[in-house]
Amino acid sequence: MNNNEILLLKLGEVVLKGLNRRSFEDKLVSNVRRRMKHCGSFQVYIRQSTIYVEPQTEECDMEAAYKAARQIFGIVTVARAVPCDKTMDAIVETAKTYLADEFAKAKTFKVESRRADKQFPMNSIQISQYVGGELAQFFHKKAEMHTPDLTVYVEIREKHAYVHAPSVPGAGGLPIGMGGRAVSLLSGGLDSPVSSYMIARRGVELEMVHFVSPPYTSQQALDKVLELARLLTVYCGRMIVHIIPFTEIQEEIRRQCPEEYFTLIMRRFMMRIAQAIAKDHGAKCLVTGENLGQVASQTMDAMAVTGAVVDIPMFHPLIGMDKEEIVTRARKIGTLETSILPYEDCCTVFTPKHPKTKPVLALVEAEEAKLDVDALVADALANTEKVAIRYYED
Ligand code: ATP
Ligand code: MG
Repeated sequence: MNNNEILLLKLGEVVLKGLNRRSFEDKLVSNVRRRMKHCGSFQVYIRQSTIYVEPQTEECDMEAAYKAARQIFGIVTVARAVPCDKTMDAIVETAKTYLADEFAKAKTFKVESRRADKQFPMNSIQISQYVGGELAQFFHKKAEMHTPDLTVYVEIREKHAYVHAPSVPGAGGLPIGMGGRAVSLLSGGLDSPVSSYMIARRGVELEMVHFVSPPYTSQQALDKVLELARLLTVYCGRMIVHIIPFTEIQEEIRRQCPEEYFTLIMRRFMMRIAQAIAKDHGAKCLVTGENLGQVASQTMDAMAVTGAVVDIPMFHPLIGMDKEEIVTRARKIGTLETSILPYEDCCTVFTPKHPKTKPVLALVEAEEAKLDVDALVADALANTEKVAIRYYED
């Protein structure tokens, strides 16, 4: 690796935000700075819709910075690049040494240049032609304008010229913190880590809620959920997981209500409690990993009955996805392996043999009236434990 190397991060939708653009950029730069702290001492600044990440010491871990940069929402592409003097000789020499490995793999290439410094004596077409000619001769490779194996980028900026390696896709989306705050219901399953990721990708900061039912659910099951939260911090930032004791509620429902309504009434309790936490923490919506038709509690009728107890929006980012798509996404974001560890969830204790898939709200409410709903909710909230999840790298 070249030890002059820096990272160039290109902004995505952020640049479209008109008057808000400035605050989006500020938020994104501060998110990048926070992430880079784990990788060493970096200077991070923005010029013309590009964030520059420049190592300040030999100890900076560029590999870690490169990986982290690809997990930050709001960035569409990440490129490594090397700065050099603003002379054609320096640019050609830099490309020869820095991109030697890339050239070895490519049969054809082209050069694309951009000139932010309009005082530079050659225009971008002339720069590309000159650099392209030199590199074709040196590496004995053919220039190909339409579908080259390798594109070499040259940028002439204020202080330096930059030669890029090929860029790779970033995480996309919007910077965390720009889209408000949500409470996400996180189970140990496959779906809810993905739904949390997807809502966070729209710039939403997350507050997690997890329900436990000891002794029916184990410490390992809880540890697994905390690990999933920790895996999500690389995208979502630090977060709090509210751990809600749910045993008493579940036992009380089992004692008082018909089995076929058990899951529905239980889920209505979950939403009431999650909503109370949302209101307490300035969160404006609830997020779940529900997916239409996946299980009995996720039919349209069942979801309507569950949702009837909340008066803030509930978002279900996975609602229309196929299982395969969800699995692919879980693998990509790195939560799959943890999600499939075989621990129980409170949703799977006392599950009815014949759950209602087309419940009638009035009948559910009549059954629920046998319970002291307010007291049960208040008690669960009073005994909630909060766990601060630190960055994955800490
Ligand atoms: P997941 O894979 O996310 O567990 P699932 O398909 O297994 O989803 P359910 O177990 O019915 O479905 O849960 C639906 C949604 O309810 C979950 O995606 C999650 O948002 C929420 N949920 C379920 N169990 C819990 C729990 N113990 N704590 C917090 N939220 C939960
Ligand atoms: Mg589940």
